[in-house]
Amino acid sequence: MKVNLRKIIGTLGSHCSLQVLKGAKDEGFKTLLISEKKRYHVYNRFSFIDHVILVDKFRDILEAGIQNRLNDLNCILIPHGTLISSLSSDEIESIDVPVFGNKFILRWEANRSLKQKLMIESKLQIPRTIKSKGEINDLCIVKLHGAAGGKGYFLASDKKGFEEGYNKLLNDNVITDEKQLYIQEYVKGVPVFLHFFYSPISGDIEFMGVDRRYESDIDGISRIPSKHQLDVQIEPTYNVIGNIPLVLRESLLDDVYQMGENFVQASERLVPPGIPGPFCLEGVYTKDAKFISFEFSARIVAGTNLYISGSQYSNFLFENGMSMGRRIALEIKNAINKRKLDTILT
Ligand code: AMP
Repeated sequence: MKVNLRKIIGTLGSHCSLQVLKGAKDEGFKTLLISEKKRYHVYNRFSFIDHVILVDKFRDILEAGIQNRLNDLNCILIPHGTLISSLSSDEIESIDVPVFGNKFILRWEANRSLKQKLMIESKLQIPRTIKSKGEINDLCIVKLHGAAGGKGYFLASDKKGFEEGYNKLLNDNVITDEKQLYIQEYVKGVPVFLHFFYSPISGDIEFMGVDRRYESDIDGISRIPSKHQLDVQIEPTYNVIGNIPLVLRESLLDDVYQMGENFVQASERLVPPGIPGPFCLEGVYTKDAKFISFEFSARIVAGTNLYISGSQYSNFLFENGMSMGRRIALEIKNAINKRKLDTILT
């Protein structure tokens, strides 16, 4: 792909857009926000946003007129969770504006069997998949294919529990078929989200931060005494409301870096050009401090919003507080200076 020097960093107005555009501004770029009209009153407050394209809905980014405007402005689009939840993988790949990172690996994030393949290739330990409801004999988490932010997940310890959860989703018109569900071993321990950045320009993998999520209502259930929990028959949900900072025991860092390196190498083998930029390994640390990974995100995650002024870990690597959004902009700047922009864009 032939690329010119591109000087505007743009993204969809949601998820981590404030962090991305503030970071871009701090690195000296002009910034652009694609905002839904109904949300613009929020973004209008921030002086680091230079250009705005207003749309009725994020899907409008597929229109040639909008993509022409982005290209006329020399825009590099930073993908995040909202792009993935608004468009299909085919649609994302069809975007004719330079996308930061590898837009083709986003398909591997969205598709459960591709995801599993990449995680196995990365030598990550993953939870057991339960093939059918008849095989459930311990606590399982039942997920919806492509669910956003854990909505619609339920727990089951046997076939009967599965059927109860399934019927509820059916009655609520959330699903139409059992095939839309995916049963996974429930890993007992504490959920942790590891934020990485890989720079093909320097060749380094940077561990940038770690968070845990604050999910409703699973994180509120412990505030209800068990007697009342039984009375109201709560079925926990995993809707992400926010994120909470975390530091790891220092002795875990060795494994953390190894997992990051394995993931980068596996991505390069399976989905060229690999994973330039941010990614996140998401899992549970068990009581033996083993990391069992249930997900990855092949782009910036919203948990990095915690570290606008740098994290405990990024502060070891960079002089100034370095957010993930700013790290993206710095990579683009370094790539422009070394005339290697085409190695970090697709
Ligand atoms: P996800 O949407 O896959 O990131 O999952 C949403 C939430 O479900 C996570 O934050 C975890 O709390 C929980 N979760 C997902 N998979 C598992 C698993 N296999 N074992 C235990 N908890 C899980």
